[in-house]
Amino acid sequence: MKKAETDIVICGSGPSGLTAAVQAAENGAKVVVLEKAQAVGGASNMGMGPLGIGTRFQKQQMIDITVEKAFNMFMEYTHYNVDARLVKRYFEQSAETIEWLESNGVEFEGAFRYFPRSEATWHIVKSDQGIGPRAASFMAKALYEKAQEQSVQFMLQTTAKKIIMETGRVTGVIAVDASGDEVQIACKAAIICNGGAGSNKELIKAETGLEHGENLFSFAVPGLVGDGLRMAWEAGADKLPVRIEMAAAMEGMDDLPQSVSVIMHQPNLLVNKQGKRVMNEDHMQNSTFLSNVAAHQQDKIVFSILDTSIVKYYIRRGVDHVSLVRNNPDVSDFNDGVRIAVENGNKGLFIADSIEDLAEKAGINKERLVKTVEDYNDFCDSTDEEFFKDKRYMRPLIKAPYYCVKIRPGGYGTVGGIRINENCEALNKDFEPITGLYAAGADACNIYDDSYMFLLPGNSMGFAVNTGRIAAISASNFVESLSE
Ligand SMILES: Cc1cc2nc3c(=O)[nH]c(=O)nc-3n(C[C@H](O)[C@H](O)[C@H](O)COP(=O)(O)OP(=O)(O)OC[C@H]3O[C@@H](n4cnc5c(N)ncnc54)[C@H](O)[C@@H]3O)c2cc1C
Repeated sequence: MKKAETDIVICGSGPSGLTAAVQAAENGAKVVVLEKAQAVGGASNMGMGPLGIGTRFQKQQMIDITVEKAFNMFMEYTHYNVDARLVKRYFEQSAETIEWLESNGVEFEGAFRYFPRSEATWHIVKSDQGIGPRAASFMAKALYEKAQEQSVQFMLQTTAKKIIMETGRVTGVIAVDASGDEVQIACKAAIICNGGAGSNKELIKAETGLEHGENLFSFAVPGLVGDGLRMAWEAGADKLPVRIEMAAAMEGMDDLPQSVSVIMHQPNLLVNKQGKRVMNEDHMQNSTFLSNVAAHQQDKIVFSILDTSIVKYYIRRGVDHVSLVRNNPDVSDFNDGVRIAVENGNKGLFIADSIEDLAEKAGINKERLVKTVEDYNDFCDSTDEEFFKDKRYMRPLIKAPYYCVKIRPGGYGTVGGIRINENCEALNKDFEPITGLYAAGADACNIYDDSYMFLLPGNSMGFAVNTGRIAAISASNFVESLSE
């Protein structure tokens, strides 16, 4: 067995682990980071950026959002079913964290909305690709460099297995390295930052009842199997529900030009298997709302439907809702996408020359869908009596061919499981801190109750970078207190 010694061991090097590493080193602690994968960054390598509230970017861009407003919005959204002190500390620190990230080499494009009804809290990281997916990998790169400058020791391809507890306090971490050798690192504090259990199908089924590939189509980032949750619970941390950070998934879009998913995500007619409308489609842009709506229908599925005249309108005039994730607003190759889908036998996109045929192909109740389209077309001439959709988005379905895609519940990964307080100390069942044990990021993100908060975008990476720092401040203060 290999042996080592340090002040603080950080398990995981996603945004929570990396911010914890830089902050703890800045505070004078000796730090070892254990990372299971070959590279640092975790799920943030796929994302775009964290939340900030009251930042210099928002001031410059004249965006009016305060901690008070965001806090009240958040607490009402979650029905106060979460830890208000933790939410408050996270939001209150978030602007300073954006500055701190900048001082550590991270650059930002500015503050953005995820969709028109959201607030502009999403601080998208500047990359060499412009605004788009994977931009936040540049944040991971900058923090990794900074941590190494500060002599943080990274052990890549090394999996944390167990927190060693002696007389009620953390004394070390056991890990296994790339060659399969056990490594025992003696330490005074450990911070768990293992990103949840997004690719652990069994744990997700047990915790949420949802099944990957059956009724849940979420990202399953390799390696995120719940190691941190298990280690914390074994060390005595109180267990809270593990939830999915829900965001709707559209089936069969991966091998098609982006224009297809951009057009199908517009506020088109949205129905369930019974052929009934399910929501004001203007809210489809909130991916969590769309996922929740899908989850409430028979077989957990809804269908976005439009006709050729609407497609032509989008090609001519541009789409209603521009997305920074699906970031090419040019949808002129939609028909190429349809051709590719037909050639490849795509299972998510249906095309038909009548509403009746479309219903049959997609498995929607034919008579009801015909009636729904008739009613909807009437509402387009007057007003949407059913769900009050804005008149701007009411366009009749009148011209073949008609198009339809399947939309299912999806998500980015899991959130929550380890109870922490506002200092990111892991708490036991008596709500008392476990000496030397801290948790941050997705493993400890118990703040959304049943639904991810997309109205304040950048929320989960924001929680990760802020709790990473808070955990490091608490842990380094604790380490310092031992030498006094
Ligand atoms: C496609 C996609 C896009 C996203 N975009 C955004 C966005 O723009 N804004 C936003 O707010 N959120 C976004 N998210 C969510 C965000 O990326 C996560 O909330 C965030 O990365 C969580 O950070 P974390 O540090 O807790 O965990 P992770 O980033 O998941 O990192 C955990 C790390 O721990 C490592 N690890 C796991 N087990 C062990 C072990 N036993 N020992 C050692 N290491 C271990 C993993 O390999 C990983 O590197 C996105 C997620 C996805 C999937």
